[in-house]
Amino acid sequence: MSNPLRVVCPHCNATNRVPSERLGQGPKCGQCHQPLFTGRPVELNEAAFARQIASNDIPVVVDFLGRLVRALSDDGPRIRKGGQGP
Ligand SMILES: [Zn+2]
Repeated sequence: MSNPLRVVCPHCNATNRVPSERLGQGPKCGQCHQPLFTGRPVELNEAAFARQIASNDIPVVVDFLGRLVRALSDDGPRIRKGGQGP
């Protein structure tokens, strides 16, 4: 067995130790029993973001999206129609 890697749960932010050979076998969180890898982006607050960055031994991809940008994205179809509204 190889050295375990630390993987922070995207659901409860608990740090799990997962043997590297089990990373592709759908490991679940030891605390909340949810899958550690969901295949979807996770929205994080500041504390959860800090934990994900500081406590993960696996790469973390970050996409920063401000509130204004997110609000515009939510209204994307309306904006693309030249502001005519849905
Ligand atoms: Zn969890």
